[in-house]
Amino acid sequence: MLLVFALAAILWGVGYASGASRQARTVMLAVLFASVLALHLVLPDGHPLRLATGEDPALWLLLGGFAGLAVLYGAGIRALKRQVVSKDKAEMMDETQGPLFTTSELERYARHIVLRELGGPGQKKLKQAQVLVIGAGGLGAPALQYLAAAGIGTIGVIDDDIVENANLQRQVIHTDGRIGMPKVFSAQAAMEAQNPHVVVRPYHRRLDETVARDLFAAYDVILDGTDNFETRYLSNRVAAALGKPLVSGALSQWEGQLSVFDPAQGGPCYQCIFPEAPAPGLAPSCAEAGVIGPLPGVVGAMMAVEAIKVVTGAGQALRGEMLIYDALYGETRKIRLKRRSDCPVCGGG
Ligand SMILES: [Zn+2]
Repeated sequence: MLLVFALAAILWGVGYASGASRQARTVMLAVLFASVLALHLVLPDGHPLRLATGEDPALWLLLGGFAGLAVLYGAGIRALKRQVVSKDKAEMMDETQGPLFTTSELERYARHIVLRELGGPGQKKLKQAQVLVIGAGGLGAPALQYLAAAGIGTIGVIDDDIVENANLQRQVIHTDGRIGMPKVFSAQAAMEAQNPHVVVRPYHRRLDETVARDLFAAYDVILDGTDNFETRYLSNRVAAALGKPLVSGALSQWEGQLSVFDPAQGGPCYQCIFPEAPAPGLAPSCAEAGVIGPLPGVVGAMMAVEAIKVVTGAGQALRGEMLIYDALYGETRKIRLKRRSDCPVCGGG
């Protein structure tokens, strides 16, 4: 029997060395197996050739049976894989316009597409999503960078500031050469340079009552990265009224906060948690109190993660919860947030 195995190994090795295909080598082994089996069936008991090749044909039949099962199993797995791949491909097609992604995009988003929680369908949702970011500063800048890189199809950004030298210690979307340029145009240039497959809509103006409603209505998810309470309360009111999820981040010195306010899904809104703006001086701005440079990057990137989860439904977004990151001591904690029945924005139902 050993003799036959040695012969099989030699055949396989010689076939491999001479460049024969796997299929051709398998056929050679099948021929060897059939010859040995034929010898056993034709030659009488005790024949030296039978003794040298394992004596009993039952052994060979058993071995053949196992090999056959293994081949069948392999073929079944391959068929299943083909089915999954073609299903994924079908889901990445737009019914009316053919393929939704170019080959270059499929390659670019490959690390998303292999994620079980996203896959092709998740990437398609990202491409079809419209996300608005309020503020292209500390929190908005990193959120914008990662939303663009992740392939969010349409990204709106509203901000009336211009790039200043003192922004560049943390707002790495902007560059020294773009000091003096409106932040929304600087951010647009950076995003389009990073990912030409996304559409960026810059709004160089302050968010106020007159435009908020129409603007928010055009987007699926709103990210609030502003540093003033007036805009925060306004964004919260309008997002809640339109039933749009609001991904909200905040910073102070060494600490960051993050939550998703989505009362349409039953969670609290921003005003449930912060019923009133703090008295002037109690919550100093970054300009007054300072902020460690990478912190907005950490919290802004987390805001992008939450937006991706809200858009695709992956995992569990931070609805009804607040994540607090203390950079100075490297600690994070999560607190549960409750809706207030007397909230003027979302209360009473
Ligand atoms: Zn509320």
